Amino acid sequence: MQKKIYAVIGNPVRHSKSPEIYNYLFEKYGINSTYIFAELTENLTADFLQIYAPAMNIAGINVTMPLKSMAAKLAKELDPASSLLESVNTLDLTTGKGYTTDGKGLLLSLEFQGFNPREKNVIVLGAGGAARSIVYELEKTNPSSLIVLNRTYEKAQELAAKIGGVVNADSLANIKSYTNNCDLLINCTSMGMTGSNPMDLTFLSSMKKAAFVYDIIYEPKRTELLKASSRYGFCTCNGLDMLICQAFYAFNIFTGIMPDRKDRTELLNILN
Ligand code: NAP
Repeated sequence: MQKKIYAVIGNPVRHSKSPEIYNYLFEKYGINSTYIFAELTENLTADFLQIYAPAMNIAGINVTMPLKSMAAKLAKELDPASSLLESVNTLDLTTGKGYTTDGKGLLLSLEFQGFNPREKNVIVLGAGGAARSIVYELEKTNPSSLIVLNRTYEKAQELAAKIGGVVNADSLANIKSYTNNCDLLINCTSMGMTGSNPMDLTFLSSMKKAAFVYDIIYEPKRTELLKASSRYGFCTCNGLDMLICQAFYAFNIFTGIMPDRKDRTELLNILN
């Protein structure tokens, strides 16, 4: 059988860890495929997906910043989450269907970490692409409360209105009003990422002691948020686990195989 090709597209994307993750899984499960990256601007994305990818026998695509909304526009069909959120991070080019696996990846990672969000008070920082997918999935786990805090309040408000249920919104500037009963805080902003602005961490002193602080950033591996949270004694997790778990769902879409717990452990060892 002809070798299939899969790719991650985005900009920048050359330092993506996706090739390492997928090539490990292809080898582990004996799948005759390889994984590449393509650094694209938005105006090249349609041509890449519609002309070059089929010509190169590319069977599936992972999409990262800033092309997720463009990919949703170009997909022939969308799963319910991608349709609501207008964002796609996985495209099955054999069917043209788009999916979003970030939120499912976060939930699987929380399960591996032994944290169940049901009936918990959750704070999500950010209302961008990753936050949207995460809030969509978290709401389904029946948390007691789920507040989205964003620098641009209108975006948080729009997200809360879209998802409904127990999801509410406020400005990031009001974070201290929510921290004293917070069980789980998830940073989905790019603050703290290598090369971006640092976060004001003074809110940590008002968090309750049993809180879990999850930073979906994985570059650097220990953000200032995670370092300070550990000093306060909170449980913490960085974004590598979510990155691996969301890739498991995409790999399942591409191949029909769901990798297992041992693959996660192995990949965490490889990437850490
Ligand atoms: P995005 O759509 O561009 O959203 C960025 C978010 O960060 C927005 O809410 C934005 O607020 C906020 N933000 C940026 N700079 C800020 C600042 N100086 N102060 C306050 N808020 C700020 O990006 P994304 O795709 O959601 O990605 C966000 C982060 O998650 C990135 O670091 C990315 O690498 C990481 N990520 C990790 C995974 C994983 O698997 N671990 C998956 C996806 C993304 P405004 O709305 O006010 O601009």
